[in-house]
Amino acid sequence: MKKITLLFALLFSICMNAQVNTFSFTITGTQPTGLANALTIAGQKWSNYLQINVPVKVNVFLVNAAFLPFSAITFANGRKNFPNAPVPNTLYVSTLANQIAGSEVNVGEYDMDIYFNLFTPYYYGTGNPPSNKTDFISTAMHEIGHGLGFYSDGYVDGSNKGSFGYIPPSAIPVSPSFPWRGQDSVPSIFDKYITRTSGNLLTTCAPQNSTALGDSIKNGALYFNGPLYANASHSNTPIRLAGGAGTYTLGVDLLHIHKTYANTIMSYYWGAGDTVRIPAQWELGILKEIGWNLKAVGIKENNNYSLASSYPNPTNTNLFVSGQNISEVKLFNVIGDLICTNQNNLKAEELSIDTKYLDNGVYFLKVHFNNSGHTSTKKIIIRH
Ligand SMILES: [Zn+2]
Repeated sequence: MKKITLLFALLFSICMNAQVNTFSFTITGTQPTGLANALTIAGQKWSNYLQINVPVKVNVFLVNAAFLPFSAITFANGRKNFPNAPVPNTLYVSTLANQIAGSEVNVGEYDMDIYFNLFTPYYYGTGNPPSNKTDFISTAMHEIGHGLGFYSDGYVDGSNKGSFGYIPPSAIPVSPSFPWRGQDSVPSIFDKYITRTSGNLLTTCAPQNSTALGDSIKNGALYFNGPLYANASHSNTPIRLAGGAGTYTLGVDLLHIHKTYANTIMSYYWGAGDTVRIPAQWELGILKEIGWNLKAVGIKENNNYSLASSYPNPTNTNLFVSGQNISEVKLFNVIGDLICTNQNNLKAEELSIDTKYLDNGVYFLKVHFNNSGHTSTKKIIIRH
């Protein structure tokens, strides 16, 4: 009996945690219907995985211009040598610095500026986008992901000199709303885990502002090599990053996961018609490696971070269940009667259960995974 009580207490706390949404969005520009809701959902989804005690402040600009060379772009705020900084002389994005410091280190400043170019044919709904539209929730999760720590201040200038922390303001298309961190003269904490094929750390393999460093950034595969958590989330191997193909593009190389990675928010793998709305286990591994505390929101499956989460709870009209390799979800009432089943024949990352017509009360959601035969059960409350 003792064991069962503990299990229910754990499940209950998981469900309560999943409700916290700790992002605020300030939006400038004309909003298409559904955009604000999609942003909120994107923040809520990251909140499902990360311990966010100091709220994240996102500054959103909506522009609409065919000539702009991006569909979305993010500038992350940051700090080095803040109170409790784990690694000195290293730039941490302010979202993370705030959690580590336990209070805002950037009072009065946003944590990130995100520009969305609405010339991109975005889909603002919560279902699956048509094949010619780009999913806004996935895009917002990607952009927010940069502000959470997928952030590099590596640079190679026109003379092939490579550096970390010396990105000239003239190299970026717009000015951030906060002081430009690209010239803080130190690598980001994300940069400090990048290794080359040789195994050498990229940030220290050659002197700052040298052509040797420029060559190292531009040539050869690059990896996020996190010995504590990241590699463990990726079959005990480093995670390949974008770049190293003989050129360097600011805002593209280093700070993305390599395009060959499927189901990965921070890669370039996905495009129009796709949704990537839950972090891959190696993305959570990277965030944990650089200093984030993860929530125990889901199910540890085979000792990996194979997660499923559900929201909202209590639920009214729809219960959403997201995760990788979900084969089926079932809802039971408290005496164990099967109320409904939703099979994941389309291999979606997110399923919904229509709860509009179900009575108020306590239910149990059972999630089946097709890669292991494992299942997980969560307590759900329906309240209209
Ligand atoms: Zn990006």
